[in-house]
Amino acid sequence: MRTVTILGATGSIGTSTLDLLERSPEMFEVVALTANCDVERLAAAAIRTNAKRAVVADERCLTALRDALSGTGVEAAGGAAAVEEAASMEADITVAAIVGCAGLKPVMAAVEQGRTLALANKEALVSAGDVMNRAVRQSGATLLPVDSEHSAIFQCLDARMAERVSRIILTASGGPFRDRSLAAMQDISPAQAVAHPNWSMGAKISVDSATMMNKGLELIEAFHLFPVTSEQIEIVVHRQSVIHSMVEYVDGSVLAQLGTPDMRTPIACALAWPDRMPTPGERLDLIKVGRLDFEAPDEERFPALRLARAALNEGGGSPAILNAANEIAVAAFLGGRISYLEIAAIVSDTLDRFSPAAPDTLEAVLEVDREARVIAEKRVKGRAA
Ligand code: NAD
Ligand code: MG
Repeated sequence: MRTVTILGATGSIGTSTLDLLERSPEMFEVVALTANCDVERLAAAAIRTNAKRAVVADERCLTALRDALSGTGVEAAGGAAAVEEAASMEADITVAAIVGCAGLKPVMAAVEQGRTLALANKEALVSAGDVMNRAVRQSGATLLPVDSEHSAIFQCLDARMAERVSRIILTASGGPFRDRSLAAMQDISPAQAVAHPNWSMGAKISVDSATMMNKGLELIEAFHLFPVTSEQIEIVVHRQSVIHSMVEYVDGSVLAQLGTPDMRTPIACALAWPDRMPTPGERLDLIKVGRLDFEAPDEERFPALRLARAALNEGGGSPAILNAANEIAVAAFLGGRISYLEIAAIVSDTLDRFSPAAPDTLEAVLEVDREARVIAEKRVKGRAA
C-alpha cells in the first residue's frame, strides 16, 4: 500500500492520476488532494478516494469546499500556505501536477521533507533548477519525472552507466502547427492552439506545445534531471509521438521508450516505481502506426526553441524569466489580448530587458519570477494597445 498526495488533482494530469489510483485501490491510499478553486471536482474526488484532506489554493473558495465536504470526514483547508502544508504531509509519493510557477513553493516544501515526487510541474524545475537540485541533494528527496519524454529518458537511462551517456534525444510532436508557414501563423486562434493532434492536455501546456515552448521548457527540465550538458540534448521532431525520447551511450547504442500517447503510462511508471503497475488504454500497435518520421526542428518558425536554449546556456535567472514571461504571454494569448506570434516576442523582449543576479535561494527565484511577470505584463499592455 502506498500513500499518495496529488497537488493539482483536478487538472489533466491530476485526473489521469486519480483514474489510476481508483483502478488499483488495493495499491494506494490518498492523503491530500489540492486544486486552485475547482471545488466540485476536488470535493467529489476527495470523497470518492476517501482522502484525509482537500485543499483549495484560492482562499475565497474555502467556504464552498467546506460546504461540499461537510459530514464526509474529509478535512477542508484553503490558501497558499495550506497547499504547502498538504505538500509537506507524509506520503510515499507526492504528485506535483500544479501548472506553472504557482507550483514551485509546494514542490519545494515536498522536496525539503525528502519526499519522493512524481514531477509533472516542469515550470517549477525550469525556474528553480539549481536551487531545487541542491535541496534534493540535502534532503535526499527523489524526483521521478512524469513528463512523457523525461519518463522515457528515465526508463532508458541505466543509473550505473550515467557517465557513459553521450546524448539525449528529446522527441517533439511539433504540435498542431508543425506544417504551417510562418506567414500562416499570423492569425492562429486560441481554440486552434489548444487542439493538439496527439495529446489531450491542460490549456497552458497545449499552447506551449503549439509554440514549441513546451519542448524548450523540457530541454531545461532534462538538463536538470539528467547528467548531460545542454549540447548533449538534441531535439528531434517525431510527429507520431510513439517514441517518447531516447538515450545514446558512448558505444553508439541508442535506447528508446515507446508507447501510445497516454499520460497514464508515465504517471503509472512514477507511481509504481521501481515496480510496474497495469494501466488501461490502447496498447501500441506498430503495424497500425506503420512508420516513424523524424525531422529537424525549425527555430525560424518556432523561436521559443532558440530562446529556451539560450536561456539555459545563459543560466542564472534566465530560465525563470523565460518561464514567467511565457506564462504571462500564454495567459494573454488565451485571453485574446495578444496574437500567437507575440508570445515568443514577449518572452524575448522580457529576457532582453532584465538580467538579475543568479538567484541562489527559493525567495530569490520567486523574486525574479515576480519581476519578470511585471515586465512581461507591461509588454503585453504595450502590444495590446
Ligand atoms: P491543468 O491546467 O489541466 O491543471 C492544473 C492543476 O493545477 C489544476 O488542478 C488546477 O486547479 C491547479 N492550479 C492551477 N493554478 C493553480 C494555482 N495558482 N495554485 C494552485 N493550484 C493551481 O494542467 P495539466 O495539463 O494537468 O498540467 C499540469 C502540469 O503538468 C504542468 O506543469 C504541465 O506542463 C505538466 N504536464 C502536463 C501534461 C499533460 O498531458 N497535461 C504532460 C506533461 C507535463
Ligand atoms: Mg512532455
